Amino acid sequence: MKSSKKQEMSDNQGDDLAHRVLNDIKASSDLGLLRCVQCGLCTSMCPASKHSDYDAREIIKRVLDGDESIIQDEIIWNCFYCYTCQSVCPVGNSVCQVTQILRQMAIDEDVGKQKIESFISFADNYIKEGLGSIPREYHGQLKIDYGQHWENLQENLEEVREQLGLDSMYLLPEAKKSIDKTLDAIGFKKRVQEIKDVRNR
Ligand code: SF4
Ligand code: SF4
Repeated sequence: MKSSKKQEMSDNQGDDLAHRVLNDIKASSDLGLLRCVQCGLCTSMCPASKHSDYDAREIIKRVLDGDESIIQDEIIWNCFYCYTCQSVCPVGNSVCQVTQILRQMAIDEDVGKQKIESFISFADNYIKEGLGSIPREYHGQLKIDYGQHWENLQENLEEVREQLGLDSMYLLPEAKKSIDKTLDAIGFKKRVQEIKDVRNR
C-alpha cells in the first residue's frame, strides 16, 4: 500500500486542469481536490453561492471535468475568500484555494489582467510611496462617504500627526529606495506594466 505522501505525489502527476491546480504553489500540500465527493456542503454554506449564480460545488466539478473554460468564466471572481467552504468540506478540499489559483491562471491570460486592471492605482501607489494607501482617485467617493471631517483630516494629515507627536507616515528615503529595488527584483513593476498593457490592446 502506498504511503500517503507517495499517494499524494502520484495524485499530483498529470497536466490536466485538476493536477495543474494541485501543483500550483498556492495549493496546500494536502488539498483534497481529487477527493471531492460532490456533497454540496460548500455550496450550502457559501455566501457567494447564496447571493449570486456562483456555485462552489460546480466550480470543483468543472475543474475535475477538465473544463478549461472556467479560467475565462466571470463567475470565478465572485468568491469572497471567506474560507467557509474549506472549514466544512468533509474531504479537506478548499474551493477558496481552488478559486484563487483559477484567478491567477486567468491573470496569466488577458482576461484576468483586464479584470484586475481597475485596481492598478493601488499598485502604482505602492511603487510610488513604498507603502499601501488609498489612491487619490478614490478620495472623491470617500469624502462623500465619510464627510467633511475625513476630508479635513486628509488635507492636514501631516500637521495633525505633528500635533500628536507622530513622525511622518511616509518612509525614509533609504527605506523607499530599498523597497523600490525589491519591487524591481521580484518582477512586481514588470507585472504591473503587463496588466496596464492590456488597456492598449
Ligand atoms: S464540500 Fe468538499 S466534498 Fe463537498 S462538494 Fe464541496 S468541495 Fe466537494
Ligand atoms: S471562500 Fe469563496 S467559495 Fe468558499 S465559502 Fe467563501 S465565498 Fe464561497
